Amino acid sequence: MPMTAAPSRVPAQADTTTTDATDRFLGLADHYSAHNYHPLPVVIAEASGAWMTDVDGRRYLDFLAGYSALNFGHGHPDLVAAATEQLGRVTLTSRAFHHDQFGPFCAELAELTGTDMVLPMNSGAEAVESAIKVARKWAYQVKGVPEDRAEIVVAGSNFHGRTTTIVSFSTDPTARSDFGPFTPGFVITPYGDADAVEAAITERTAAVLVEPIQGEAGVLVPPADYLPRLRALCDDNEVLLIADEIQSGLARTGELLASEHDGIRADLYTLGKALGGGIMPVSAVVGRREVLGVLRPGEHGSTFGGNPLACAVGRAVIALLRTGEFQRRSRELGAHLHRRLGELVGQGVAEVRGRGLWAGVEIEPGGPTGRQASTALAERGVLCKETQDTTLRIAPPLVISRADLDAGIDAVAEVLTGR
Ligand SMILES: *Cc1c(COP(=O)(O)O)cnc(C)c1O
Repeated sequence: MPMTAAPSRVPAQADTTTTDATDRFLGLADHYSAHNYHPLPVVIAEASGAWMTDVDGRRYLDFLAGYSALNFGHGHPDLVAAATEQLGRVTLTSRAFHHDQFGPFCAELAELTGTDMVLPMNSGAEAVESAIKVARKWAYQVKGVPEDRAEIVVAGSNFHGRTTTIVSFSTDPTARSDFGPFTPGFVITPYGDADAVEAAITERTAAVLVEPIQGEAGVLVPPADYLPRLRALCDDNEVLLIADEIQSGLARTGELLASEHDGIRADLYTLGKALGGGIMPVSAVVGRREVLGVLRPGEHGSTFGGNPLACAVGRAVIALLRTGEFQRRSRELGAHLHRRLGELVGQGVAEVRGRGLWAGVEIEPGGPTGRQASTALAERGVLCKETQDTTLRIAPPLVISRADLDAGIDAVAEVLTGR
């Protein structure tokens, strides 16, 4: 595999030759790490705000924000301070004991999200797995579905994580192939099609699980009546609505939760990514007491879920979100981003989707592949990543300055319009 490093857009540092440090790190990763990703050949050594610096001192603008795990940017001082302070106090107790960050974290997250209860986990996939277990248990205990017959209605082109149960209801062959046998109990309907969900609901349906905006699928925004209709269908049929807001939530779209744009509330939400402030994995299921309350001691758990360090970082994240500043930045900068990207439609860009500081840029047929575009952007000092073959996902940290955002958009325009 050729190992070309991308030069920075900063002219003084521009250098198209791959240097020793980059080569060495790429070589180690290529040889010793499992090849479950296809990263751009850039080796980051440090980062601050919306900027990253590689091992050879080249600087890059972050246009991906760790798939929205870095909504507050790299090294936000409040988050680093909270983590550093907690590191010196206590980092792990296990859930065998209480600690002084746990109750406050759960209370503050419930308050922030307008929910009753919190089930802290670590990764997003774990939060989704936990929501599935809770919904099934609720179906048996509360709704009265016969044992082992509960079904969960999901959407095609979904992304909910990588565990064996979750890939069981993926429609992406790359995510599924060779990983069977699969977990039964899921019914797949086309994303955005409320009629299909209506047809799929039976007396055995425990829940409808959906992303309010599908991130990995290419930042797909569903029709305006989709989520309200799902809410009404769930109400009419005693079915839970589970909104996976792991990528769309926590200010990315200009609201705390993307489902707020649709004016609906879910029974359960899965949160992750930005909940850990880009410092560590922190996820949670939050929702109604009637639902999360079905869990009894010993029925579900995690050694690290809700640990003191995670809770301390999570509390600092919640404090940032409470100010509303990041939601506002996403709305304002997002309006600017979408206005400027919209001008590229018909000039190398087929379509721009998304909300807030989050965009899926569909490249016109005949243009570069998403991978080629990402590589060309890296050569201009802007790091983002394709999702699907022909879509660029743009999701800068919400702390990005307007000037930096414009510089990044200029690079995108250059690469996609060939100007
Ligand atoms: C990233 C993501 C997940 C999985 O999160 P991990 O922390 O990678 O396990 C689940 N759902 C959505 C919508 C995501 O974007």
